Amino acid sequence: MTQREQRMAVDGQEVIVVRSSRRTRTVTADMVGGQLRLRVPMRLSRREIAGHARAFQKRLHSRRSRAGGSDEALLRRARELAAEYFESSVEPTSVSWSSQQLKRWGSTTPTTGTIRLSARLRTMPGWVVDSVLVHELAHLIEPGHGPAFRRLVARYPRTAEAEAFLEGVSWAEQNLPAEG
Ligand SMILES: [Zn+2]
Repeated sequence: MTQREQRMAVDGQEVIVVRSSRRTRTVTADMVGGQLRLRVPMRLSRREIAGHARAFQKRLHSRRSRAGGSDEALLRRARELAAEYFESSVEPTSVSWSSQQLKRWGSTTPTTGTIRLSARLRTMPGWVVDSVLVHELAHLIEPGHGPAFRRLVARYPRTAEAEAFLEGVSWAEQNLPAEG
């Protein structure tokens, strides 16, 4: 069989496309180093590939969203994200929910590898929780919020969206009257 690998941009994200003469119809996807890899039939058009890429991105994110209730699930999720976006170059030692964090969404102690997430995130969509985890994991590499840090968190495709979401939540908490 013949295989040809290429890279293509879909909505600004690079996708690895492996065309294979053995495939006739099926398209499968997995993640390698934080990038979506699609295995597709040899003759699929770019437009069709982009459509599949979007569908898979969406599915991957809804499936792996929920970090779950327990600290163990949170640590497991953090390790998955470390593998996916940082080639496991960061190793969180403990990740836990904290009800003390009222002002911040998360905090990291780089010397010990300890990450705490605000328990307020618990009811939020999984992709938002994931983005906070990616932010805190990136702090194990870069302590500040400078350009190097921004490049790290940009590996997570929904960083900007999640930041806007959380800003909206903070704004609402400060500006809208409590219901009741
Ligand atoms: Zn930070």
